[in-house]
Amino acid sequence: MGVSEDRFQVLIAGGGVAALEAGLALQQLAGERVKLTFLAPDPDFVYRPMVVREPFGFATARRYPLDEIVRDLNGELVVDRFASVEPDSQVVHTEGGAALRYDALLLALGARIRPRFDHAITLDDRQLDDQLHGLIQDVEGGYVRTLAFLVPDPTPWPLPVYELAMMTAGRARDSGMDLTAIVVTPEDAPLAVFGAPVSQAVGELLAQSGVDTVTSAHAEVSAPGRVLVHPGGQVLEVDRIVALPQLFGPPTPGITKSTPDGFIAVDAHSRVRGVEGIFAAGDATDFPLKHGGIAAQQADAAAQAIAALAGAGVEPRPLAPVIHGVLLGGPKPLYLRAHITGGHGLSSTVSENAPDAHPAKIEARYLAPYLIERERRTGSLR
Ligand SMILES: Cc1cc2nc3c(=O)[nH]c(=O)nc-3n(C[C@H](O)[C@H](O)[C@H](O)COP(=O)(O)OP(=O)(O)OC[C@H]3O[C@@H](n4cnc5c(N)ncnc54)[C@H](O)[C@@H]3O)c2cc1C
Repeated sequence: MGVSEDRFQVLIAGGGVAALEAGLALQQLAGERVKLTFLAPDPDFVYRPMVVREPFGFATARRYPLDEIVRDLNGELVVDRFASVEPDSQVVHTEGGAALRYDALLLALGARIRPRFDHAITLDDRQLDDQLHGLIQDVEGGYVRTLAFLVPDPTPWPLPVYELAMMTAGRARDSGMDLTAIVVTPEDAPLAVFGAPVSQAVGELLAQSGVDTVTSAHAEVSAPGRVLVHPGGQVLEVDRIVALPQLFGPPTPGITKSTPDGFIAVDAHSRVRGVEGIFAAGDATDFPLKHGGIAAQQADAAAQAIAALAGAGVEPRPLAPVIHGVLLGGPKPLYLRAHITGGHGLSSTVSENAPDAHPAKIEARYLAPYLIERERRTGSLR
């Protein structure tokens, strides 16, 4: 279709949850008033939460071609990387040398990962199957009898580590092997962010699944197989160590950063502090919880504010964060939910019953139904 130059130009840097949710929200809220351009380097949107099942022989996590999604949004996809922004002239420079003008810019660049512990397998969801396949085989063969799972501080989204620990313990049991699996975490209780009722239910499930947990603990790895637990100085001697990565913010020259780890400071409307017309959402921001549902809610807040700027008559609402989780790895999935105030969940609920027919690992107001509709269209949803 023809593109009229007088439309409000929205540039979305990224192709993950926050980027796509914002694009879908803007299509709904502002329609033809906005022209959407996505700047992203990878060909696919990957449904990251399901990656944890790949090393256990389940189907690979779903991947959706970005160009098709962007086409559904009547947008344009620039396959390149964000390099820097000049807020005064409202221009983004790409690594490939292009200059892209915008009226509003959304930075949805995700977080970067780095290993926190030496002598450990640092989980990277882009290559989890390769990383863990050999380990699972060694567990099945009885070559690995003790396994520590370490959660760093600050804690990224910790749920995958509990799923992996339970799935690995289950695989050892099914193979008739003894395995001691221990999660060492700085959290006060397993999945403490959801609040006490969820932590209690998850704690019971971990115990039933044969996974020990050491909470309020900081781990150090002083040598291969040697985990030092603080406070107290307990030493765990284990065959292998698996760890979540430490997260830090993406490079965004032109933007003032707030945290020492480089996360972008935003307000409750996802506006980047100190600059006009620039928004950020998702793992790249200084919101302490790196969670797809939160990324989507921040994207919705940004989309409302951008739609208002584009003259769409939308009343922007501030972020009121709610987290949802689906914990796999036990006998049945557990469905978790909490409102977030400060560092902990309020009015949390836990249930073995799915909240609806197609419960999503990532709760996103526009993206979740879009993906279901898309799968119906392509015939992959029964
Ligand atoms: C194993 C695992 C399990 C998880 N489970 C859950 C779960 O059950 N529920 C849940 O809600 N959350 C879960 N999460 C967290 C969730 O996946 C993230 O919080 C979410 O993906 C963040 O979305 P985002 O859009 O901010 O970043 P990302 O999804 O990381 O997307 C970032 C995007 O930016 C692009 N990009 C990077 N650099 C550039 C650049 N320079 N220029 C342009 N584009 C760039 C990337 O290609 C990517 O498309 C899980 C995470 C992991 C790793």
